[in-house]
Amino acid sequence: MQTGTGGGTFFEAAYSTGPDPPGCLPAFLVQLFHSARFIISVAELAGLPDAALPEIAFAGRSNAGKSTAINVLTQQKRLAFASKTPGRTQLLNFFELSERDEQGQTVPRGYLVDLPGYGYAKAPESERSQWDTLVGGYVARRQSLVGIVIVMDARRPLLPADEALIAFIDRPTCRLHFLLTKADQLNNSEKRLAIDRARRRAEELGPRASAQLFSALKRQGVEELETTLAGWLRD
Ligand code: GDP
Repeated sequence: MQTGTGGGTFFEAAYSTGPDPPGCLPAFLVQLFHSARFIISVAELAGLPDAALPEIAFAGRSNAGKSTAINVLTQQKRLAFASKTPGRTQLLNFFELSERDEQGQTVPRGYLVDLPGYGYAKAPESERSQWDTLVGGYVARRQSLVGIVIVMDARRPLLPADEALIAFIDRPTCRLHFLLTKADQLNNSEKRLAIDRARRRAEELGPRASAQLFSALKRQGVEELETTLAGWLRD
């Protein structure tokens, strides 16, 4: 396990209240993401839950930092790693986001959907074509999908596999957010180059696309991510 700057473990650093604390955001927003709870894993499009709530999907190349980003966003150490248990890696994993109303009742507001990782060179052909059918079909057709966060290692953003996913998401109503994670691994000028490049690519896609830097290790960019995603759910 990686060691954080404070001398503790990676997870201690990632989940401690370092820079960028919550508090500037309305509490209900923070609560919305912290409320995430596992609902269902889906192996084929026919098994998707009713499209009654807005959905935000997280996608990314294997090892980009997707699970860690989801866990930091939801403040639940093991949530997205549930998606990494054997047998679940090729599934769409749904987590419900909810709020409490004035009577204390839980009101579902949306789903966070953890998509299987892609771009793993050694994946057998059968696995790749299963990914294309399931994830390609989901992102191309799911009407309740309001946006997709594409998690990319800030040192290697917009690789061909990421571009292939972007090409799948050819719907003007589906937002895109490039999350350039592991930003703690870059110096300031490298960070600037990475975010400029991602923003230029977002601009090519129009107003539905945006980009930001993120570090789970340093807890940087968490609030920006929460604000973006909450905006998608609100709209
Ligand atoms: P996934 O396969 O996309 O779900 O990737 P993981 O979330 O499992 O992360 C892959 C590796 O990157 C792990 O070793 C994480 O500890 C590490 N990692 C994830 N986020 C960060 C980050 O913000 N900074 C650093 N330095 N390492 C990270």
